[in-house]
Amino acid sequence: MQEYSRFFIGGEWVEPAGTGTIDVVSPHTEEVIGRVPEGTNADIDRAVAAARQAFDHGPWPRMTPAERGEALGRLSAIYAANTQQMADLVVAEMGSPALFAAFAQSAIPQMVLQYYVDLASSYTWEEERQGMQGPVTVTKEPVGVVAAIYPWNVPQFTLLLKLAPALLAGCTVVAKPSPETPLDAYLLAEWVKEAGIPDGVVNFVPAGREVGAHLVAHPGVDKVSFTGSTLAGRQIGEVCGRQLKRCTLELGGKSAAIILEDADLATTIEGFKLASLMNNGQACAAQTRILAPRSRYDEVADALAAMVGGLAVGDPADFATEVGPLVARRQQERVEDYIRIGQDEGAKLLVGGLDRPHDRGWYVAPTVFGNVTNDMRIAREEIFGPVLALLPYEDEEDAIRIANDSDYGLGGSVWTADVEHGIEVARRVRTGSCGVNLYSIDPNTPFGGFKNSGLGRELGPEGLEAYLEYKSIPRPA
Ligand code: NAD
Repeated sequence: MQEYSRFFIGGEWVEPAGTGTIDVVSPHTEEVIGRVPEGTNADIDRAVAAARQAFDHGPWPRMTPAERGEALGRLSAIYAANTQQMADLVVAEMGSPALFAAFAQSAIPQMVLQYYVDLASSYTWEEERQGMQGPVTVTKEPVGVVAAIYPWNVPQFTLLLKLAPALLAGCTVVAKPSPETPLDAYLLAEWVKEAGIPDGVVNFVPAGREVGAHLVAHPGVDKVSFTGSTLAGRQIGEVCGRQLKRCTLELGGKSAAIILEDADLATTIEGFKLASLMNNGQACAAQTRILAPRSRYDEVADALAAMVGGLAVGDPADFATEVGPLVARRQQERVEDYIRIGQDEGAKLLVGGLDRPHDRGWYVAPTVFGNVTNDMRIAREEIFGPVLALLPYEDEEDAIRIANDSDYGLGGSVWTADVEHGIEVARRVRTGSCGVNLYSIDPNTPFGGFKNSGLGRELGPEGLEAYLEYKSIPRPA
């Protein structure tokens, strides 16, 4: 049991303003494994004031990028030495399978941090241009105080996607972890302190939605960076629009995996273990619509059902586990509702269904629906669980049409023996990323969504620019 009674604000551990607490419950045992104070609006006010003070009067925005890179390098080194501890924590909090968590919930977030440490020296922070009347210095300044609001499914990854570039840019941050996963933020806060990042540069207040909304609308916040559902993203975008506050939105997805005629089926189906079912299917970019050519439909259906039916479902702490429990009972029920919806819509249950694999813990049987048409809700809506929809297509044009017939535009993939041709197909898919024979998100490459999957990009130099304001300083020749 990990218990915390204070918040990390202004570089100190401070008493909460309220008396509420958040219980962290193991999705595997359903037992309480941690407790933290629940943030209130007053705690947010205090955290924004600390971040404001650190931005307006503290050293951080005035340090050179190299100096900030050095401080972040210390944090990165502490992180690198403790990735397993972080992974174990996220496994316990939200049931991510240990093998997946070892890289996605800790090693990759640390790589993202290290990427921005390295970018400090190679990025062009300032340049001279020749203007009409004389030289112009074009420089970049930090946008200010950043609110980082992120979900429970990959908490460290989604946090570091914001924190690392924001800090390198010279911003200060108030981070709001989700109530399901506050413990990993506490561990990171300890490392921030140990790394000697100046007081008030990073602040954490775990809290629910309403307090999150207070943070978004707070006049002391200059920019909101949000990862979460499209519904919440719209609300946040509206508030930011009214206030002309900068915002980056990373939202939901319903990504398509297009299996081309020439694909090697064995490696393709194996690839779906990660591309489609990573993190128990709780991944924004999961490839949950599988598009198979009609000529190979039966073969694909059999192979997919055999793979999904054979997955090891159980204790997420076991490295042999391939699918663990869902984050909460409400998520288990939501995913089961979608299984009922799929049956009611006339899709064919190929494997899985409503029989729970374990009595205790929030498990759902990994499920595949066949004969899905793209107008069904199970093909259009984000389920956020281990439920796949298999759709037949007639020819390549039809496959691209189906892939693009979605309100979302986050990820996607093309599976083929002809990589060059796969790239051509990927170019025609209207999403922020589309892999060929894999799906991956790289620290040096922009990640984000078209359409209802969001606004803006994270990662790469593009992800840093989201925290910078350009400034031109012209003068006479
Ligand atoms: P959610 O939108 O319910 O909550 C996300 C976070 O926002 C939480 O911290 C929550 O407390 C807070 N929040 C919710 N409403 C808010 C509001 N109006 N104002 C301020 N804060 C608010 O999403 P969730 O259920 O926690 O996470 C799952 C969703 O996140 C899925 O839709 C998934 O696709 C998405 N996601 C997207 C990405 C991406 O990069 N595109 C990555 C991971 C998850």
